[in-house]
Amino acid sequence: MTTFVFDFADGNKDQKDLLGGKGANLAEMTNLGLPVPPGFTITTEACRAYLESGGQPDTLEAEVSEHLADLEKKMGRTLGDASDPLLVSVRSGAKFSMPGMMETVLNIGLNDESVAGLAQHSDDERFALDSYRRLLQMFGSTVLDVDAEHFSDALDAAKKAKDTTEDLDLDVEDLRTLVEDFKALIREHAGREFPQDPREQMELATKAVFDSWNTDRAVLYRRQERIPEDLGTAVNIQAMVFGNRGMTSGSGVCFTRDPASGDQGVYGDYLQNAQGEDVVAGTRNTVSLADMAEIDKESHDELIEIMETLEKHYKDMCDIEFTVEDGKLWMLQTRVGKRTPEAAFRIAVHMADEGLIDMDEALRRVNGEQLANLMFPRFDVNAERTLLAKGMNASPGAAVGRAVFDWATAVEWAENGEDVILVRKETTPEDLHGMMVARGVLTSRGGKTSHAAVVARGMGRTCVCGAEALDVDTREGEFTVRDGKTIREGDVISIDGSTGEVFDGAVPVADSFVVRYFEGQEVDEPLVEAVARLMDHADAARRLRVRTNADTAEDAARARRFGAQGIGLCRTEHMFLGERRGLVENLIVAESDDEQSAALDELLPLQRHDFLEIFEAMDGLPVTIRLIDPPLHEFLPDLTDLSVAMAVADVHGHRKKRQRKLLKAVQRLHESNPMLGLRGVRLGIVIPGLFTMQTRAILEAAAERIRGGGSAEPEIMIPLVASVRELDLVRARIKQVAIDVQEETGTTVPHKIGTMIELPRAAMTAGEIAGSAEFFSFGTNDLTQMTWGFSRDDVEASFFSTYLEQGVFPVSPFESLDIDGVGSLVRRAVEDGKAANPELHLGVCGEHGGDPASIHFFDEVGLDYVSCSPFRVPVARLEAGRARLT
Ligand code: ADP
Ligand code: MG
Ligand code: MG
Repeated sequence: MTTFVFDFADGNKDQKDLLGGKGANLAEMTNLGLPVPPGFTITTEACRAYLESGGQPDTLEAEVSEHLADLEKKMGRTLGDASDPLLVSVRSGAKFSMPGMMETVLNIGLNDESVAGLAQHSDDERFALDSYRRLLQMFGSTVLDVDAEHFSDALDAAKKAKDTTEDLDLDVEDLRTLVEDFKALIREHAGREFPQDPREQMELATKAVFDSWNTDRAVLYRRQERIPEDLGTAVNIQAMVFGNRGMTSGSGVCFTRDPASGDQGVYGDYLQNAQGEDVVAGTRNTVSLADMAEIDKESHDELIEIMETLEKHYKDMCDIEFTVEDGKLWMLQTRVGKRTPEAAFRIAVHMADEGLIDMDEALRRVNGEQLANLMFPRFDVNAERTLLAKGMNASPGAAVGRAVFDWATAVEWAENGEDVILVRKETTPEDLHGMMVARGVLTSRGGKTSHAAVVARGMGRTCVCGAEALDVDTREGEFTVRDGKTIREGDVISIDGSTGEVFDGAVPVADSFVVRYFEGQEVDEPLVEAVARLMDHADAARRLRVRTNADTAEDAARARRFGAQGIGLCRTEHMFLGERRGLVENLIVAESDDEQSAALDELLPLQRHDFLEIFEAMDGLPVTIRLIDPPLHEFLPDLTDLSVAMAVADVHGHRKKRQRKLLKAVQRLHESNPMLGLRGVRLGIVIPGLFTMQTRAILEAAAERIRGGGSAEPEIMIPLVASVRELDLVRARIKQVAIDVQEETGTTVPHKIGTMIELPRAAMTAGEIAGSAEFFSFGTNDLTQMTWGFSRDDVEASFFSTYLEQGVFPVSPFESLDIDGVGSLVRRAVEDGKAANPELHLGVCGEHGGDPASIHFFDEVGLDYVSCSPFRVPVARLEAGRARLT
C-alpha cells in the first residue's frame, strides 16, 4: 500500500519530487534540530491520484487522522478544541514554486467556539479574534473562491470608520464585528456557511491545494518554464505559531546574503505583532535585522546562528521565513534563494573562496543567460520616465536615440554621429544595415521570434517588438500611441529590451561593466572580478572551441576581444548590397558570357578587399567563408516597384533600356517559394562564375596576407548541399581556382573546402558527403526550417505564439535546438561523417551556437566548435565550460 503522508521528521531535502520543495526543506530543518513547528506532508503522489480520479485516495483520510493524532499528542492540544485549540496552517508546495498555486491558509481549527477557547487560553481576546478574521478572510478567498476584494473592502471600511490605516488600531469590538461581516460575506458569495468543523476545514483546504495545480496561471507558468504537467503538488499541514501575539512577537523574512548584490552578510526584514505575509505586504514599515537585535536580542542571535547553520548545510544562499511567538523563535521555511545575475556570479565566487564549494560547483551555479543579462546596458531605475507603450522584450538592453523610420535615414544619421532607434512595423533583410547602425530596434508587429527580434539578438542590439499600441506610419515618418501622442522622425525615445518598455525622451543609461571588461578595459568592480574568474575556469574546463559569426572586420575584431577562436560563419551576401548592387544587377542581366565576366571582374577586387580586412582581424585563426547563399532576386528591385516605374516611363515615352532588362530578369527569377528555389550551391552550379569569383577573391586575399608576413586560414564553405554530387561539381572548380591562384601568385594558401549541413538529405547522406568535405558546419537555422517544413520569416509572426501556448514546442526551435528532431539529424550526420572521414572537422554556425541548452547538446555529440554572434561569444565560452561539468 502506498504511503501518502510523511511526518516532517521522516523526510529530507532531496525528496522534493515526493514532498515538494517546501515539505522537503521543512523536513531537512526538522532533522537539523532547528525549531520548526511540527507537522506532516501529504505527498505529490496523493495529489496525482486525486487529479487522476477526481477524488482523494481511499486510504488518505485514515492516514491524515493518524498523523493528526500524533501531532495533537505532541502539542498536547486537539485540533479546534473548544477550550484550548490546536491550530494548523495548510500550505501548498510543489517541487518547483510556481504562481497560481493556492495561497497558504493559516489558523485552521478556529470556529465560533474555539475562538473563545483561544482567547481564554492566551488571555488575549484581540489576538484570538484577529486570528479568526484572518482565517475567514484567507479561507473565504482561497478555498471558497470569494473575491478577495470583498474582504479587503470590509477591512478598509472598518479602519476608515476608526479613522486609521493600521490594522493594529482595530480593537476587540471592531474585530468581533468584522468576524460577523466576513462570515456574512462568505454566506452571500460562496452560497454556504463557513465550515465550523475543523476537520472539514482541513479537508477542504487540502483539496483546494490539489485543485490549484490546474489553475490557468499555474498551467501557463509550467508551459513557459518547461515544468512537466504531471508532477502534482504536496500539501503541508503544520502546527501554528503566532507572530501576532503582541509586541514580543513578530514575523520576518531573511537571506543569508544580499540576493540583489551578492554582498556577504545577512539581509532581512522583521515586523512586530504580525502574522504570515504581513511582513512582505508593505502595509506597515518593517525593521532591519540589526534593529531586530534591539527589540529581541535573544531571538535575533539565535536566528543569526541558524542562518549560518543553514548556509553551511545547504552550501548556498538561503531564503528564510521565521516567526517569533512571545520571545520564542520558530523557523517556517527555507530554500535556496533566488538571486539577481550579479549576485549569482558574486556569491558563487565568494563561496568558493570561503571553501564552501569548489570552482566547478561555482561554475554550475551561474549560467549563460545570466551572463548575457550582465552584458546589456541598463536604464537608471531611479530616473524619471514617461511610458509610451509596452511591447515584447525581444533583445535586452537600454537604447536611447532619435526615432527614424527607414534604414537609409538610420545609416545617414548614424554616419553623422546621431544615435538612432529604427522604428518599423516589422523588419526585413532590407533593414539590416539600418539595424546595424541603430542603437535599438522597435517594431509594432511580430513576436520574440520575428525577424527584428532574431536579428537584433544576434547582433546584441536592443529590441522591443510587437508594441501593438503603436501605430507606425513609415511613409509619414511617425508613430502614434493609442492615447494620441505622436512621435515624429527625429524625436528622442528610449527602449528597454529587458522589459519591453518604450519611453518618451532620453532616459539616463548606465554602462555594463562586464562588457567593458570583455573589451579589455581595466574595471575595478567586484562583479567583474567574479565574472573574470568564472570565465577563466570555464575556458580551462571546456572542450568545445568557440568561434564567431562575423561578416565585417569590425565584428571579427570585437569577437576576438570577447574570446572568439576564429570565424565559423562569414556571410558574403552583404558584400553584394548597397552601392555594389548595380554590379550585381549587371551580372544578372548579362546577356553574354563576356558581359557576365565583366560584371564579375568588377566585383572581384571589392570582395578581395572585404576578405583581406577580415583575415587581418582574425590573423592566425581559421575563417570559414560561406559562398553566396540567397536567391538572386533578393538583389534586384521589387517587381511591383519596377513595373510601376516602367509604366510611368512608357507614358512619358522614355526608353529605359536597362530597366526593361531588369524587369525581364526580375520576372525570370521570380519564385513562388524562394527558400526552396535557386539558391546556395544550386546558384554555384547554374552560374559557376559567381562561386569562382568569390573563391578567387578569398584565396588572393589570403595569398596577399601571407606574402605580407601575416597568416590566413580560409575555410571555403558551400551552402545548401543536398547531394555529394553537387559538392563534387563545385569543389572541382574551387580546386582549379586554387591551383591557378597558386601559380599566379607563387604563394601556397593553406585552405579547407567543406559544406554546410542544413538540409535533411545532407544529414541523411552525410557519410557520402564526408568523403568530399574537409569540414561540416551545421546550419541549424535552415536545418530547422527544412526539417519542420516551415519558413521562419513566415511562421514566427503568424502561428508560433499559438504553437507555444498549445505546447507543440515549449520554446521556439529557432531559439533552442529541437533536440529530438533536428538534433537526431545532427547526431546521425556526426556519426556517419566521422565514420567515413575520421579527419572531418565539425562545427555549428546556426543561431543555436550561442544558445546554452543547444551548446550542451553540441558538446555531447562531439562537435569541435560552436560559432555564434560576437556578443554571444562569452556566453558560449561559459556554457561550453559548464557542459563539461558532470
Ligand atoms: P508561500 O509559499 O506563499 O511563502 P507559505 O506557506 O510559506 O506560503 O505561508 C505564507 C505565510 O504564512 C508565510 O509568511 C509563512 O511563514 C506563514 N506560515 C505558514 N505556516 C505557518 C505556521 N504554521 N505558523 C505561522 N506562520 C505560518
Ligand atoms: Mg513562504
Ligand atoms: Mg542557410
